[in-house]
Amino acid sequence: MLDIENMVPVEADPPYVPHKKPYRTYCPRCQIVTTTVTHRKCGLLNLLLFILCLFLPCFFVFCFWCKCFKDIEHQCPECKTPVGRRDRI
Ligand SMILES: [Zn+2]
Repeated sequence: MLDIENMVPVEADPPYVPHKKPYRTYCPRCQIVTTTVTHRKCGLLNLLLFILCLFLPCFFVFCFWCKCFKDIEHQCPECKTPVGRRDRI
């Protein structure tokens, strides 16, 4: 049965963080301080590069494969909740 009174609201959109690498932060769901794990995801920059590559097809591969253009999402290692996000744009 769901215990609604003790549930902690989790932000739907994680806040921007400047970190590229894992860092220590507070997880609102687990209510512990932990070191994040990072995942790279395609973001707005990848979409803009894709549109640019329609005109320059020789660079087509780089817009989705090169990880330096991807956004970085920081997650709690325990519950996988996104606790921060570093967008490229
Ligand atoms: Zn957590």
